[in-house]
Amino acid sequence: MVILIITVIGSILYDRFFCKYLCPMGAFLGIISKISPYKIKRNEDQCINCGICSKKCPVNIDVANTKEITSAECINCQTCTLSCPKEGALEIKQGKRGFTPLALILSVVIIYFGGVFASYTMGVYEVLPQPIEVGGITDAEELKGYMTLEEVSKYMNIPMDELYTKLNLAKNIHGNTKLKEVKNYVEDFEVSNAREILNK
Ligand code: SF4
Ligand code: SF4
Repeated sequence: MVILIITVIGSILYDRFFCKYLCPMGAFLGIISKISPYKIKRNEDQCINCGICSKKCPVNIDVANTKEITSAECINCQTCTLSCPKEGALEIKQGKRGFTPLALILSVVIIYFGGVFASYTMGVYEVLPQPIEVGGITDAEELKGYMTLEEVSKYMNIPMDELYTKLNLAKNIHGNTKLKEVKNYVEDFEVSNAREILNK
């Protein structure tokens, strides 16, 4: 509620208040932007001072009056470079080397999908977790609240009757019941206690 109230009041007073001052992703992108060797530079000789870049910037950076974008608020969206009508006025530079926005976007796509492809060929790329075998869990601390009683029985290789006895559960609690929902039937049931009991 405190964050919500701060966000609402801040948003009335400042444009994109949450994105600029509260968003953790924004803070992360800000750090990346600061340490990135790639910088957007405005070539004053080419610039016709139309101001389009400043108007289009989604985080209100005054690009048209800046020589080099160093602000941590820059999210590297490239809206300014793509909307600039004068060729060569805004450039993406790494040292003295210049890049077009398309080359930068392509390199990001290649790095991203290249990483996925490399991990896939090395056999470490997984979309879904590996299924748990019968008896695949030997330490009850690995049990999750979303697992059903039947799954706990299977993963820990404990017959259902024995599981119910150990956890002191009535037989009318269905095997499809998730561990975290057992407390709806047994008032003082806690998943952490169940883990302790099953580890004894
Ligand atoms: S890259 Fe995007 S956020 Fe950064 S200055 Fe240009 S328009 Fe603004
Ligand atoms: S959009 Fe391009 S030409 Fe216009 S002010 Fe910005 S840098 Fe200069």
